[in-house]
Amino acid sequence: MILQGKKGLIVGIANNRSIAYGIAKACKEQGAQLAFTFLNEALEKRVRPIAQEFGSSDFVYELDVSKPEHFSSLFQSLQTDFGNLDFVVHSVAFAPKDALTGDFVQTSKEAFNTAMEISVYSLIELSRCVLPLLNKGASILTLTYLGSMKYVTNYNVMGVAKAALESSVRYLAYDLGRAGIRVNAISAGPIKTLAASGISDFNLMLKWNEANAPLRENVSIDQVGSAAMYLVSDLSSGVTGEVHYVDSGYNIMGMCAMEDVDGKPTPRWEILTKH
Ligand code: NAP
Repeated sequence: MILQGKKGLIVGIANNRSIAYGIAKACKEQGAQLAFTFLNEALEKRVRPIAQEFGSSDFVYELDVSKPEHFSSLFQSLQTDFGNLDFVVHSVAFAPKDALTGDFVQTSKEAFNTAMEISVYSLIELSRCVLPLLNKGASILTLTYLGSMKYVTNYNVMGVAKAALESSVRYLAYDLGRAGIRVNAISAGPIKTLAASGISDFNLMLKWNEANAPLRENVSIDQVGSAAMYLVSDLSSGVTGEVHYVDSGYNIMGMCAMEDVDGKPTPRWEILTKH
């Protein structure tokens, strides 16, 4: 098994539809021992049974990334209970719902700062927090989305946050590379999760991707999970600072997908929405 004897921390499970759940599952299947965090008491009730499912009941810790004291207690607990880490998965993002709709120009400073703090700074703080526990060759992985590179309706301030997150991956990769630690991101295609439900017209995004991606389907948390398993494992030991797309190929498209209908090139989107 590829991750036999490896230990990883998973941050960002809300429920069994979370991308982090798909990643935890793929890592567990390859033999990893996992530790989990939960955001608050309400989520603890959901995360504990999941930790139990993965044989990690004793390694569940509170982490609200907006609270610096949680990082210090997480470090202490990991050091005492769990020991050194071979990988860390950061799968956390948040922006106020009213900033994920309408005109980007109306983004408030408060929404901007919240999105940056929870979705970007948290990766830097988490990396710094666990650094003394990371084994040589350890891997840090975060989750991003194409809205960082291209305009995506309603993604707004989260697109700006993801651009900063991807840039942070490159700067962290350089710094931590000195210690042989790798930092990468997966840019996942749209997946229906709790976080995604905060984005207006998310179902439209899902249908658009399905219609226009080369593979003609949306990705699953299992598909993101297996790509993540590769990136946290020694299989990717020469890979750092990368943004790896797991989106059925959607990001390569320069024009909408077309199909032949009665000898006439027709946008696939039109065909799917008509029938
Ligand atoms: P999810 O299941 O809702 O996971 C997001 C997690 O972030 C939740 O556990 C959430 O808790 C947590 N979180 C929010 N604020 C936090 C805080 N202050 N401290 C600690 N945790 C906090 O949604 P997901 O789609 O799997 O999202 C995981 C990552 O994938 C995010 O970075 C997201 O941007 C990225 N991503 C998602 C998609 C997609 O289409 N779903 C595509 C590309 C990238 P609460 O639920 O309580 O807020």
